[in-house]
Amino acid sequence: MAIIHELSPHLADLIAAGEVVERPASVAKELIENAIDAGSTRITVEIESGGITYLRIADNGCGMSAEDAPIAFRRHATSKLRTEEDLAAIGTLGFRGEALAAISSVTRIDLFTRQGGALAGLHLHLEAGEIQANEEAGCPEGTTIVVRDLFYNTPARMKFLKKDFTEAGYILGVVQHAALSHPEIAFTLIRDGKQVFSTDGKGKLLAPVFSVFGKEMTANMIEVPKTERNGMTVYGYIVKPHAGRPNRSMQHFFVNGRYVKSRLMQAALEEAYRNAIITGKYPSGAVFLELPLAAVDVNVHPAKTEVKFSQEKPVFEAVYIACKNAISANDNMPRLEHRE
Ligand code: ADP
Ligand code: MG
Repeated sequence: MAIIHELSPHLADLIAAGEVVERPASVAKELIENAIDAGSTRITVEIESGGITYLRIADNGCGMSAEDAPIAFRRHATSKLRTEEDLAAIGTLGFRGEALAAISSVTRIDLFTRQGGALAGLHLHLEAGEIQANEEAGCPEGTTIVVRDLFYNTPARMKFLKKDFTEAGYILGVVQHAALSHPEIAFTLIRDGKQVFSTDGKGKLLAPVFSVFGKEMTANMIEVPKTERNGMTVYGYIVKPHAGRPNRSMQHFFVNGRYVKSRLMQAALEEAYRNAIITGKYPSGAVFLELPLAAVDVNVHPAKTEVKFSQEKPVFEAVYIACKNAISANDNMPRLEHRE
């Protein structure tokens, strides 16, 4: 008898869930990304117990049809990718078609969704990835997903979660990053019944910068105006050199609207402050890079927070020059135009 066999779809989902769903914040991140991809202008996140027992994300995006919604929870089911060519130029935040399958395999889910113009909406209830209820429902236009009891069926994974307060902090970070990269969307985060973060969605970057960095730090910021170089655009807000911090926790980098961890952009930002900032202090800020989709690969890691640039030097230079110019302009020093 053969000892090699294919894993059951549920077991495959559980394993894949380990890569996509690490903690409540990863659930929040995936669901917020879906809401953004759905064209929402208002996204409200509500959590209880650090998002472990209750996490609700309501959007006013395009919604799903009664036919599509159940398919969305299947593995590798996506509306965002069709051909191999599409993979080379991903314009949406999601594309792997894994998030809903992975999240639903380790939680209890209620989905409410209605497309614009549709007379009725749909309610689905899922437990451990299985659809338990599928019924017509009155609901507002858009999609609301309620996720309960993360890891209830995988207690071993539950043990790795931290205190509610810490998990709630990670979720706040996810909402802040989404808000910074989408000033045109009004975000609200409600924690245990209290609103703890919000943005106005009016489209000005300074609004989420203010919400994220706070009044005092924002007052010490310099705008990095849109700077084009090497076929890419860099912009953002960074602190004045005297307002350096003892760590890098307030450095946020974005590539094509996606929050990323980028050592390259970090190095370029810090190089721009060389000689201007005290040793041992680090700049803070939000730095945005936009470049052709084909020049960057986001398909490096399931969580999509790492990116691979096809060429690193032009990226470093573009970020460095834009930030350096902004700092120099602030110092009334001559603007730096070229760097060989
Ligand atoms: P991906 O985002 O990679 O496509 P997901 O599993 O996150 O994979 O979602 C599967 C599909 O479900 C999406 O491609 C999209 O068509 C649909 N979907 C998910 N969330 C929403 C939402 N909030 N609004 C509208 N459609 C959604
Ligand atoms: Mg997704």
